[in-house]
Amino acid sequence: MTQVGLGRVDPSPAARPGDPGPLAPGQALAELHAGNHRFVTGAPRHPNQDAGHRAAVADGQHPFAVIVGCSDSRLAAEIIFDRGLGDLFVVRTAGHTVGPEVLGSVEYAVTVLGTPLVVVLGHDSCGAVQAARAAASTGTAPVGHLRAVVDAVVPSLRRAAERGVEDINGIVDIHIAQTVEAMLADSFVLAAEVTAGRCAVVGMSYRLSAGEVRTVAAVPAGFAAAPAVPSATAPAAQDAPTPPPGVTPAAPAAPAAA
Ligand SMILES: [Zn+2]
Repeated sequence: MTQVGLGRVDPSPAARPGDPGPLAPGQALAELHAGNHRFVTGAPRHPNQDAGHRAAVADGQHPFAVIVGCSDSRLAAEIIFDRGLGDLFVVRTAGHTVGPEVLGSVEYAVTVLGTPLVVVLGHDSCGAVQAARAAASTGTAPVGHLRAVVDAVVPSLRRAAERGVEDINGIVDIHIAQTVEAMLADSFVLAAEVTAGRCAVVGMSYRLSAGEVRTVAAVPAGFAAAPAVPSATAPAAQDAPTPPPGVTPAAPAAPAAA
């Protein structure tokens, strides 16, 4: 019988040199903000990218964050968060659309690897969101499997229309929050981890030109506004969500960049 897995699994969260070790959700978020701040300010440290660390993590992984990001080529997680091998468990699809394989991957990281933070990472001027809007406005369905991507964005377009949001980046923010909601609604495993306090889910929007992330949604509500361990290098006041039911939504979208 063939056993299928994602590689060697060492569920024990032992820290290694250069490894942040087991973190609380707030600490994991602070690490991401600190890394993004280094990237934005042109002072990246490129941690955990050396041969020694590569060898150290070969026997097991303990990523401190899952990134469910858009596939956009300008959104490479390890670069924009200034992290290295073994730090981030990354799943990317166009428009960060979420299906069973994505949810299974997230559940694996959270339950087997003990990852305490899940981030939905979108960005301004997202091509998948623009394609969905174009398809909706013209009534023309895309050919091939691209339709699955467009269909997954349609509920976010409806929500944006209900709120009178027409700006593409405002729609992106709504789509990020909608993705957070959908993941928790469709994955009872993830929802249970959040309820138990072992995990948090945050939606972030990335600005292509500036390189910075902004929090637009968080579960539990208010989580992202007060990281448990603020980093000395992390930006202090960029998280100011306003709570609706279940999910903390975005402030009004910033003007388009890039
Ligand atoms: Zn995109």
